Amino acid sequence: MPTTAYPRDILIVGAGLGGLAAGIALKTDGHKVTIIDSAPEFAEAGAGIRVPPNSSRLLLRWGIDLEKMKKSASRRYHFIRWENGSTIVKLPFENIVESHGAPYYLVHRADLHTGFLEAAKRAGVVIHTNKRVIEYDFDAPSVKTLQGEVWKADLVIGADGIKSVARPLLTGQPDVPRDTGDVAYRILIPGKDLLADPDLESLITDPCTTSWCGPDAHLVGYPIRDGELYNIVVCATSYNETTDEVWVVKGDNRELCERFAKWEPRVQKLCRLTRDFMKWRLCDLPILSRWVHPSGKACLLGDSCHPMLPYLAQGAAQAVEDAAVLRQCLAAQKDLGVALKQYESIRLPRSSLVQEKTREHQYILHIEDGEEQKARDVRMALNSQENPV
Ligand code: FAD
Repeated sequence: MPTTAYPRDILIVGAGLGGLAAGIALKTDGHKVTIIDSAPEFAEAGAGIRVPPNSSRLLLRWGIDLEKMKKSASRRYHFIRWENGSTIVKLPFENIVESHGAPYYLVHRADLHTGFLEAAKRAGVVIHTNKRVIEYDFDAPSVKTLQGEVWKADLVIGADGIKSVARPLLTGQPDVPRDTGDVAYRILIPGKDLLADPDLESLITDPCTTSWCGPDAHLVGYPIRDGELYNIVVCATSYNETTDEVWVVKGDNRELCERFAKWEPRVQKLCRLTRDFMKWRLCDLPILSRWVHPSGKACLLGDSCHPMLPYLAQGAAQAVEDAAVLRQCLAAQKDLGVALKQYESIRLPRSSLVQEKTREHQYILHIEDGEEQKARDVRMALNSQENPV
């Protein structure tokens, strides 16, 4: 049932979590929404993803059935020392629904993407794959694909990720994503391998997010798919394994074991249980000055305008917030250009702040052992007492 007084024909480029979130939110309000994506099909990809409550409470409201998904709700966040597993700070999540409106979910990225796709299709969003956009006209909003098709709309949304084609054209400033100097190793281990080891068993049976903090690296581990898998994201200073062109390379198990040979015994065991994994070069961008084209008929959303380090688990969550705010702005304004400017004025400062915080955490989480690290640990513990979850 349309709820907006100003229904529009909207074309979204990109069916990642950001583009789909926007599609679901906007279609629910009665806009006509089409999404096109360059991928030939949506294959199962990636590893775990955390869905913090600023995102999960919106997704639950939009009918994305996170409860039915094979997932875990994190019972707490546990920061521990790299060399012996001693606690730096333990953040209990028992009251997170009361304090933040929804749980902190731990899911498989493929399950989340499938959940978004199903919700989008249920809502009536039309999705086309195998459509690579190569040209944009933001004045008479339209895009041209590699196959030569032209797609027109009242509003074009560039949700085409960190390597966005839309972004430099829309901002008028050529850009290249910048190397943050860190890489992420994305690892999945069968849950049964952990259950077979008394030292690792509780990582599955007591679902929580564990972050081992050490010099130059931190490991974030959590169970997904009801404990069928244990997901680890190792975020570490790069040893220059990837080139400018190649962002993802196959990981080397021996190198992984050597790198973490002095970490607490559980980390060493997890490294030994690791089989195939991929290593990702982590890039972001300086803060953009605008997300909306001067024509007032096109905008950016998600990683295309605020790619960030994954250290606060907020990249996709910020895209979901973008979608929620864009929906409200379009619903409230007859003038499309004014609505988009409102969207930008609300979202750009907020996501920029989060982007900057992730850069701060790159430093904070990887401090060398010593006085500065001890002060950080005390600060983290104090902060948690002053600002309980
Ligand atoms: P993308 O997922 O990049 O989607 C862009 C889409 O556009 C793709 O489907 C692509 O095929 C399509 N496309 C690209 N170019 C074109 C074109 N020319 N024509 C047509 N289609 C095109 N976020 C969290 O919230 N929680 C986490 O726990 C978390 N963990 C992370 C861990 C790691 C290691 C990393 C790297 C990121 C993590 N993130 C996390 C961030 C999150 O993954 C991203 O922010 C999010 O997936 C971005 O979604 P998006 O839709 O904006 O972009």
